[in-house]
Amino acid sequence: MSVDSVLETIRNVILSKIPLEAGITRIEFEGPKIAIYATKPSVLVDGGENIVREIVKTLKKRVVIRADPEVRKSEHETREIILKIVPLEAEITDIYFNNETGEVEITAKKPGYVIGKDGQNLKRILLETNWRPKVIRTPPLPSKTIRQIRELLRKDADERKVFLHNIGQKIHRSIIFKDSMVRITALGGFQEVGRSAILVQTAESNILLDIGVKPSGNSDEYPFLNLGEFDIDRLDAVVITHAHLDHCGFLPFLFKYGYRGAVYVTEPTMYLMKLLQEDYIDVARREGKIVPFSKRDVATAISHTIPLTYGEVTDISPDVRLTLHEAGHIIGSAIVHLHIGRGLFNLVYTGDFKFNRTRLLDPATHRFPRAELLIMESTYGGSSDIMPPRFETERKLIEIINRTFSRNGIVLIPALAVGRAQDIMLVINDAINKNLIPKTEVFIEGMIQEVTAIHTTFPEYLSQSVRERIYHGNNPFISEYFNIVDDPEKRSEIVEVRPSIIIATSGMLTGGPVMEYLKLLAPDSRSSLVFVSYQIEGTLGRRILQGLREIPFPQPDGRINVVNLKMEVYNIEGFSGHSDRKQLLRYVSSIQPQPERIILCHGEKSKIRELASTIRHRLRIPVIEMGNADALRVR
Ligand code: ZN
Ligand code: ZN
Repeated sequence: MSVDSVLETIRNVILSKIPLEAGITRIEFEGPKIAIYATKPSVLVDGGENIVREIVKTLKKRVVIRADPEVRKSEHETREIILKIVPLEAEITDIYFNNETGEVEITAKKPGYVIGKDGQNLKRILLETNWRPKVIRTPPLPSKTIRQIRELLRKDADERKVFLHNIGQKIHRSIIFKDSMVRITALGGFQEVGRSAILVQTAESNILLDIGVKPSGNSDEYPFLNLGEFDIDRLDAVVITHAHLDHCGFLPFLFKYGYRGAVYVTEPTMYLMKLLQEDYIDVARREGKIVPFSKRDVATAISHTIPLTYGEVTDISPDVRLTLHEAGHIIGSAIVHLHIGRGLFNLVYTGDFKFNRTRLLDPATHRFPRAELLIMESTYGGSSDIMPPRFETERKLIEIINRTFSRNGIVLIPALAVGRAQDIMLVINDAINKNLIPKTEVFIEGMIQEVTAIHTTFPEYLSQSVRERIYHGNNPFISEYFNIVDDPEKRSEIVEVRPSIIIATSGMLTGGPVMEYLKLLAPDSRSSLVFVSYQIEGTLGRRILQGLREIPFPQPDGRINVVNLKMEVYNIEGFSGHSDRKQLLRYVSSIQPQPERIILCHGEKSKIRELASTIRHRLRIPVIEMGNADALRVR
């Protein structure tokens, strides 16, 4: 069957079920979805929901009903009707008409009021205007990234329509190969942490899971895309689990070299990914490193990104169906479930995950419809990688702060901009409010504010308690104690404010403003340097933890200035967004259904060996320890 005949079959199913009076004018692919255009969409929306449900069940495809352009009300009239239906409490900040899709984007401070009880307002808007309303939250804190991406997607609306149409054609191409096999190739992030990339191949499709970079000393390392297995021209889809650079940092490279297929992520990941990739380019440039792609490639990647929500089942190639699930690691982080070849094979790839509740996020999902293979991260899989309980971890940070404050010192916390920084902000704000530490200035520098703004735009991706607080206007990320530093000139004044706390990026001392603070504070024995996240092998952070006290700072003229580190150094592991050894083992024993085999990745060699041995002996599940560049037929 050709694409046309696949579409023909779909058309026939749809036409046989939808009553003539709906006035169908067009049926077409819109990425993984089928868009049905009708002159009387009300037939399908008001009382006709069962018909649509029937179609979805028969086709096993997502269907979206759109009004034919002919019958849409004018923009002026539609705007008036929307303002009449939606109560003032919604605080609408923008109404935008996408003529390509027939969607009207309503941006509001309180989206709940736009939606109305059981979605009543939305239904009324569609029925009265024939525009399909899409509700967007106004960022509670201003965010450049959100503005830029929304502008980019609007500007390219017509190109995006063509892109989605092409993707739809590709996904619905007919299956040529009846041969049933599934192969996994380790392109990066195996027996190491960094540059995660996994190629999943069937006879029919090529899917890439993650494509990251490995931050290290002088030149970063990239995935093994030069292996024969990897052919950029045959790549069907890329799935990114989360926005950390060790999972998405190399994505723009694919677009530089001609990839024009889809990238599947959650919505927060789409925004964070752009921010982090651009920052990666900026930081590298400042340090004289060469990056093999540019910001233009970052933008191209974004315009080929298709955001999905957790639990949404989506065809991404003729024989692969993708579902993203909650991973509990950072906002928008996802566990990937692939259903291959109509029941042939199912695999779960955890990405980075936390199988425990944190202040910020709910724990990772462990129930799947089917799972023959589990590919699991093993960052903290070593036999001694047991983290203290959360309350003890927080108490340790509070103790360090109090001790440092009693010496009139400064607490310097290098933090990953995404995840850890927000978590630490919540802990510190809470500790001040409970009088566990003195009221203090907290200086925050380096992208953290922008990332926090993205967090507050997607409260539905945060833990219930944080979500409720944001819904009720009690935003825990806004505090009188937080000072956002946007002028690098101020750093020398800031280190004179004593005692105080400084949170700055990067989290592993691989660059960024934290390096400037470290240079200023290193000789000060009253101050403390506190690591709160995993330090990748080879980074300055890791070397300091291993005992390095003579810190090299490259000067703009290329010379190296060595400064003696006199600060007290602490490593607090319990804040990690990763599962510790106990949680990893608990995940393997509680995942449903139990996988037949496990592949371990994202961990140092020794840790993987220790975790593999325990899983084999205690849980009696076969474990495969793949290395980079290894390929394995799993079915
Ligand atoms: Zn991560
Ligand atoms: Zn990672």
